[in-house]
Amino acid sequence: MFQNSNRQMSLIKIVPINLPVHLDIDYVAEVVNDTFRIDTIVSDLKIDVSDAYDDRRNQYRSSVMLAKLDETAGTTGTGTKILGITELDLFMPILTFVFGEAQLDGPASVISSFRLRNEFYGLPENNVLLNERICKEAIHEIAHNFGLLHCDDYMCVMKSSTYVEDIDIKNMELCSSCKELLENTMSACEAPHI
Ligand SMILES: [Zn+2]
Ligand SMILES: [Zn+2]
Repeated sequence: MFQNSNRQMSLIKIVPINLPVHLDIDYVAEVVNDTFRIDTIVSDLKIDVSDAYDDRRNQYRSSVMLAKLDETAGTTGTGTKILGITELDLFMPILTFVFGEAQLDGPASVISSFRLRNEFYGLPENNVLLNERICKEAIHEIAHNFGLLHCDDYMCVMKSSTYVEDIDIKNMELCSSCKELLENTMSACEAPHI
């Protein structure tokens, strides 16, 4: 797939934020690593997200979470992408909820498992499915960090998802044209800056 030539300067950090232990975060890190061919670590950074809480909605502002993660990424060196994974329910003011949000071409992204759990929909717990959904959302948001936009191919992981069913339809992978775009933007990132 991707050549792993000159990416040792890059790093993807996954930061659990208020996340229950039953989630297989190491599996998510492995899938992210396989997709982007960038060293991926699970970080034990502690991020205080109390500022993001909106007591009228009983939800957390995803943009405030992103700003916090962005601050942290700034101190961890160039080329670092930082993905927060939380079970807190995220929202943007114009939307009822979001599964996640990313800074386009920026270092930070965040996803929530809150509405990815079957139990939220009154269905029996299914941790295999949960981990699959989390991986898809993680890849989706990190690809936004690398400048990828939404894709019309409903099987592509870059298709936008309004409902959890949309996530289940799509693959855990980028379609061939998104893959090519990613490869191009990633090699552009690696070009020497003189
Ligand atoms: Zn998106
Ligand atoms: Zn695509």
